[in-house]
Amino acid sequence: MNVQMQVCGLIILLLILYFYKRQDTVGLYTEALFRRALYTCMACLVLDILSVILIVNQDRLPGLLVRAECKMYLVSLVGTGYVALAYACADAFSLTKVSKFVKMIGAASAVAGIVIFLLPVNIFCEGRDVYTYGPACIATYIGAVVLLLATLFYTARSGNGMNPRRRRAIRIWMIIWLAAAVIQLMNSEILLVGFASALGIVVLFFELENPEANIDRKTGFFNARAFIDYVKHKYNSSEEVAGMLVSLDNAHSNDIRIEHMADIMAEVTELIRRIPETKRFKTDDREFTLVFDNSEQMERAYNMINQRFQREWLEDADDKTPVSLQPYYVLVPTGSVADDADEMLGFLRYFKAHCMDNPENHVNIIDENSVAKKKERDAMLATIVKAMEEDRVEVFFQPIYATHTKKFVSAEALVRIRREDGSIIPPGLFIPIAEETGLIVKLGERVFEKVCRFITKHTPEQYGVEYIEINLSVVQCEAKSLAKCYSDIMDKYKINPAFINLEITESASIVMRKTLLDNMKTLINYGVSFSLDDFGNGQSNLNYIVDMPVHIVKFDRDMTQAYFESEKARYVLQAATDMIQGLGLKVVAEGVETAEQLRELERLGIDYIQGYYFSKPIEADRYLEFLKVKNV
Ligand code: C2E
Ligand code: MG
Ligand code: MG
Repeated sequence: MNVQMQVCGLIILLLILYFYKRQDTVGLYTEALFRRALYTCMACLVLDILSVILIVNQDRLPGLLVRAECKMYLVSLVGTGYVALAYACADAFSLTKVSKFVKMIGAASAVAGIVIFLLPVNIFCEGRDVYTYGPACIATYIGAVVLLLATLFYTARSGNGMNPRRRRAIRIWMIIWLAAAVIQLMNSEILLVGFASALGIVVLFFELENPEANIDRKTGFFNARAFIDYVKHKYNSSEEVAGMLVSLDNAHSNDIRIEHMADIMAEVTELIRRIPETKRFKTDDREFTLVFDNSEQMERAYNMINQRFQREWLEDADDKTPVSLQPYYVLVPTGSVADDADEMLGFLRYFKAHCMDNPENHVNIIDENSVAKKKERDAMLATIVKAMEEDRVEVFFQPIYATHTKKFVSAEALVRIRREDGSIIPPGLFIPIAEETGLIVKLGERVFEKVCRFITKHTPEQYGVEYIEINLSVVQCEAKSLAKCYSDIMDKYKINPAFINLEITESASIVMRKTLLDNMKTLINYGVSFSLDDFGNGQSNLNYIVDMPVHIVKFDRDMTQAYFESEKARYVLQAATDMIQGLGLKVVAEGVETAEQLRELERLGIDYIQGYYFSKPIEADRYLEFLKVKNV
């Protein structure tokens, strides 16, 4: 009996079934389809073996039974073709659409099965040669070839919608199958088709369906890859999803010793293992993501771990400062704030980063409001990128008046984005986003370069301008390359560095201050001067002025305005002016809007005035016109 190949195939499938069953599966649609393919192939092989046994013993058996069994085997071949196609279609449509399409093909295959069963079949048995032929076999070949071609056509057509690994695996399966069918057709002694199906299942298993690939080895939870697949599956089946991200990556986690951190991770893992009604994913080093069927389950879980996990202890560090660790939580309730898996993960990650920016608030519940804000931010980000690509970033200049010489000796360069329709986006709307994403580095360079080009091209010194002030973001100062980059730009445009004054704001971090100071020193040696911007905006620190090598201090608009509104503020501004000038620095008052304000600040001895009273920030050519008229 030539059943060795089929028996081998069956053993392979039994092994795969064993390894598959030993592990947890995520609960995906594709997993169900894979199981179906596996069982169908096994059935096909069993029927194949059985048919050979029955044919060999046909003399002792009723002919009807032998033929019926042979036809069952033929029908199962079409069934295998159908499950392969159904599996190939898994990522293409939303679940409901897949079901419709697959159901249609299923119905067609079922009809083909009935037809095959009703058609006559002939049996050939001579020595080792055992096979069937006749109308039922021809119908089977036609059905199988149609399904096979449909699958190949489908994998070629589906484009990016299809998981490339799935496409590859299915194609390999189909090719093995086709080759087996051709060999079997040419040499009827070798019954290869059933074995080829088993090989196809092996390919699927190793390429895509090995549950081990979805499991995080340390915790035994599912991994990040499984998370994406699972959430995709949930959204595709229009099921409700609530997600919770638990992250131990907080402001203090780096201060905690590694062995402690390992203990903490083990403890949190154990706690998470005990949460009921959830799928658990380890999505990053110190991050777990839990997926629930509804918000209530999520809230229960949150209450459970949040109460249990708040730690504070003394580290063995010299100063014995208590280190506290509390996870960050990002909660995405059901109610479709996210439309798909990538968006859901995007939200979890984005809001995690935001949680970390604000250590006070370790829980972030994502509602429609915050989602709308994030979408707005994403849109603005795209606007900035596009404006930079299309050179719609512009620099406006706001003249600065020197009270001693009564001339406009300077200006502040202020960035604007021009929309495609010609309107202007003010920096308040995009600078914070550019800072958050790091885009400010490129944007700041662009502004700086534009100012340098303006100076070279229009030589504003001929109208009495002595220097231009340009804003530097705190984020830019963090980059060690800043000084080199700016001096290179000045070299390129042959700018006298004394014509450049860079405005910095206070930065809280000591580490950053070191880099900032290094940058400042290099640039000061090169010939550039610095201003301290936004003094008086609530976070000012007088020590900062003493410590930092700045030449000018700029009073914030609020501070200037407050001077005219409250007696206390008046004393503060007066005292600050005395102190700053006592240190040999100059003072700029920003936000001066009326003649009275100007007169009063002049009387007080403020060195420079900037404000709407003289001019709003204006385009370069208007600024030149302004200078020609005012600085005569
Ligand atoms: P800032 O550096 O403090 O700039 C002064 C802001 O006050 C400017 O707003 C200016 O138009 C406004 N201002 C000046 N005088 C008056 C006044 O009399 N009344 C009122 N109501 N406002 C006045 P703008 O141009 O909208 O810029 C806002 C902020 O955006 C700037 O504050 C600065 O922090 C940032 N910024 C602007 N351009 C750049 C840039 O190129 N790079 C960086 N990093 N930040 C920039
Ligand atoms: Mg400024
Ligand atoms: Mg300012």
